[in-house]
Amino acid sequence: MSDVELLVGRDVVLGGTRAMRVTRTLPHRDRRMVGAWCFVDRYGPENIAGRTGMVVPPHPHTGLQTVSWLLAGDVLHQDSLGSQQLIRPGQLNLMTAGRGIAHAEVSPAEHEPVLDGVQLWVALPAADRWTGPDFGHHGDLPVLTYPGGSVTVILGELDGAVSDARTFTPIVGAELAVRTGLDLPLRPDFEYAVLVLSGAATIDGLELTAGPLLYLGTGRDRLTVAGPARVLLLGGEPFDEQLVMWWNFVAGDHEEIVQARADWAAADERFGLVSGYPGDPLPAPALPGTRLMPRGRRR
Ligand code: MN
Repeated sequence: MSDVELLVGRDVVLGGTRAMRVTRTLPHRDRRMVGAWCFVDRYGPENIAGRTGMVVPPHPHTGLQTVSWLLAGDVLHQDSLGSQQLIRPGQLNLMTAGRGIAHAEVSPAEHEPVLDGVQLWVALPAADRWTGPDFGHHGDLPVLTYPGGSVTVILGELDGAVSDARTFTPIVGAELAVRTGLDLPLRPDFEYAVLVLSGAATIDGLELTAGPLLYLGTGRDRLTVAGPARVLLLGGEPFDEQLVMWWNFVAGDHEEIVQARADWAAADERFGLVSGYPGDPLPAPALPGTRLMPRGRRR
């Protein structure tokens, strides 16, 4: 195929009391979104035995859903709705920010020795951007089994299996556990991308290992992957609205970002409080001196 793009990520050190290094492949300079997927951070595998592990203090979100997905380890989610939820591999924590929510994510005091996962965001369409905040834990996602591997459907539908997690646009997210090979049906009207999580996968004759996001475009009705590898498949209907993404906020324009930042700085009830977190919340960085311009899914 000719329309693939290899989107190489950049290393980002997240703030907080203990820095955590992630590889961010979305948003990318050349492509901001895949369907409504607008943010892909990959972290680990990291040995955190005898260490603090993940410490992401309370911070706000608007206009998006956060998707927490682990390959190894355990993470405790706490939010301003009062949710307290430990997540393990194979389970989904899905937080819908809507008009505003705050959350913290930490390794529990007694945690597994290795931390490995992804943090993903899904943009909400304008019609649902200011919906009420919500949190859902999905511990029983559908798993498809094939001779050459298995597939966990995280969001949306794949090969007849449907996740019960709430979505706002036509979208799919799945983890492929490829032993020898998988041949999966795709929707030609969706665009797709794959991220190898471990091992080496062959896709379209291209050998791909952990690191970059391979954008596959639209117009495909099959995906053939040879392994062994673990692969994240992200897809959806191309997202045609323009968005502003700044810090932890997704919004429609500059003014909405300014308001969200001000509301967080003022500890406004819009975001609420994460009770049970022992430290201070994360302050928002300074706004840039120029107006934030809404942009489309590709640059
Ligand atoms: Mn977050």
